[in-house]
Amino acid sequence: MCNPSRGLKAVLSKCVNPECNAPFHYLREGRLFRVDVGKKASPKAPAANSKKPVRSVEYFWLCGRCANHVTVKFDEADAPVVVPLKPAARTAVAS
Ligand SMILES: [Zn+2]
Repeated sequence: MCNPSRGLKAVLSKCVNPECNAPFHYLREGRLFRVDVGKKASPKAPAANSKKPVRSVEYFWLCGRCANHVTVKFDEADAPVVVPLKPAARTAVAS
């Protein structure tokens, strides 16, 4: 492993928003999200006996345009989920 940044680059190759294809160019643009993968026991993990779950950090990048109206959260499987920053600009629905 002479170049540990290779994996990082793969994750950061484009905007995390699946509806957006903005290529990643600069860190100063948009927002970077960090998630600790493996902090929880994964039900899908094959090595259930491992006392030391492999922890790794993944980064997801949201381009500047998307960062204006969406953000990224992570579900139970640490998968990135793009969510709107706030409800659509419409009158609140009174219930
Ligand atoms: Zn984007």
